[in-house]
Amino acid sequence: MLAVNYLCCIIVIMKLESDGLIVSIRPFGERDAVLRIFTEMHGVLSGMLRGAGIAKTKPLVGQVGAVVWNARLDSQLGVFHFEAQKNLALSAMIDSSKLAFMNSVFSLIETLLPEREAYPDLYASTVRVLGDINHDTYLQWELDLLRNLGYALDLSKCSGCGAKDNLIYLSPRTGRAVCADCGAPYMDKLFKLPINLQTTMRFLESACRGLDVAVPNFRIFL
Ligand SMILES: [Zn+2]
Repeated sequence: MLAVNYLCCIIVIMKLESDGLIVSIRPFGERDAVLRIFTEMHGVLSGMLRGAGIAKTKPLVGQVGAVVWNARLDSQLGVFHFEAQKNLALSAMIDSSKLAFMNSVFSLIETLLPEREAYPDLYASTVRVLGDINHDTYLQWELDLLRNLGYALDLSKCSGCGAKDNLIYLSPRTGRAVCADCGAPYMDKLFKLPINLQTTMRFLESACRGLDVAVPNFRIFL
């Protein structure tokens, strides 16, 4: 009994608060759910939302709101309190192409971002893209994601000679643009510009390989 009391005294509770966006929900038992929430201040957090399965206003992927996350220091999985403010996925519910892009955003965040590492710029970019999602804004968001993961694509000048014109290739190795002249001897090894979703896919594959995870299906079937 004494030992138990002692243990209770040294349990350290960590509490994190931030705005956040729900990126995945998995039912846990009949009443609860395990959520992943991409927060502005603390990055991706995992935790349990008690009563999520029986709540009157059920949590939904795409909702943003005020997040409080409590966890014991020795456990990754915390407990959430979530107060929804807005559902950013609503506009996509009636548009299958928007929905496909949104699902890809949620699954890439869940797959590629480490937990409890803050990406405030990417959070802002994610909220922005969900507000107006289409092929072009989605591609821009993937470039933001890749930059945050260490794959910054530099299209401003040729990595060989510095020229700013005639940039028609991208080096898969460096992620930098290459002009027509410099690229000519290696053209079969270089990606073609302009950047499109096939180009970013190559870099996403590389990021996923680095983490030993599969590219999410929602991205593969875009
Ligand atoms: Zn060049």
